[in-house]
Amino acid sequence: MRLKAAVCYAPRDIRIEHEEIERLGPGDVRVNVAYCGVCPWDLRVYLGLSSSVHYPLHMGHELSGVVTETGAEVHGLRPGDRVCVDAIRRCGTCSACTRGLENHCANADFSRGGFATHITAPASNVYPLRDSTPLLHAALTEPLACILRAQSRLALQKGTTALVLGCGPLGLLHLQALISQGMRVLVSDPLPQRRNMALALGASVAFAPSSGDLAVGVNQYTDGWGVEAAIVATGAVAAAEEALPLLAFDGKMILFAGIHPRANLVLDPNAVHYRETWITGSSDYTRAEFMQSLELIQRGELQLTPLITDIFALDHIAEALAAVQSGERLKVVVQCNPDLDLT
Ligand SMILES: [Zn+2]
Ligand SMILES: [Zn+2]
Repeated sequence: MRLKAAVCYAPRDIRIEHEEIERLGPGDVRVNVAYCGVCPWDLRVYLGLSSSVHYPLHMGHELSGVVTETGAEVHGLRPGDRVCVDAIRRCGTCSACTRGLENHCANADFSRGGFATHITAPASNVYPLRDSTPLLHAALTEPLACILRAQSRLALQKGTTALVLGCGPLGLLHLQALISQGMRVLVSDPLPQRRNMALALGASVAFAPSSGDLAVGVNQYTDGWGVEAAIVATGAVAAAEEALPLLAFDGKMILFAGIHPRANLVLDPNAVHYRETWITGSSDYTRAEFMQSLELIQRGELQLTPLITDIFALDHIAEALAAVQSGERLKVVVQCNPDLDLT
């Protein structure tokens, strides 16, 4: 049996190939991929901006689909089940995994890509969906899991005022997840259409960065106190520098997005000292956060449809990547099996 998959051979060289399908182990599940979201990481790999990857490679890790086959030792999953797949395999035994930090697993295996007609995964990485959960929404489980990790690291109290910098799909998910926990959210983004979307999704106010409005506006909206949290959901170091002086005493800033190419963050150490500022980051997600994310999606309370602006067929993967690169679209998703019942 053969599958169709997108293979990135070198920067800006991605091709659709027909490959022999992986053998199904006794604990494995084979899934027909329905949708796979394009992550900024996929784009970085495609553009040759990731130093840690070796070509050729398969990409795509934000996926949902339908089970087609299960190994002899798999229980609780059957062909026809609609599922969400965690495409990244973690070892469970390295120093990070045994400390509950499996997001830093030393042996994490990213080699199976979701930009393919099929994917094989251990049953423990395959999560069944409720009938009411659209496959398209389930493809957002992985990015939302990253968001929930960041927000759990911030450990914010209900009623907190947070500032989200960057209203791309991830920033807009941050916004919604914060609102669902009872926070007041201010946002900042240079693109007017993104600011409007943030307002439609419940932001209290939306600012254009570097216009001078941000500092004045935050001051006004918080009665001079500042924001208790700033989430930097953009790869621009300037956003982090802009956010720092807007933090309240004991305020927290989290660097949620990688910054590429690398840049230095200029900060005044005295401001951190005297204002008791917390600065942290977050990367990836744990299994518990993945499950929590799926539960939140399955509850159906988040507005996910407006975040998905484009769906491309697998054969048009290069166009999907270009759409992400344009910086003007929100979530771009690849539909991997046109024949699949996607209801
Ligand atoms: Zn991702
Ligand atoms: Zn590990």
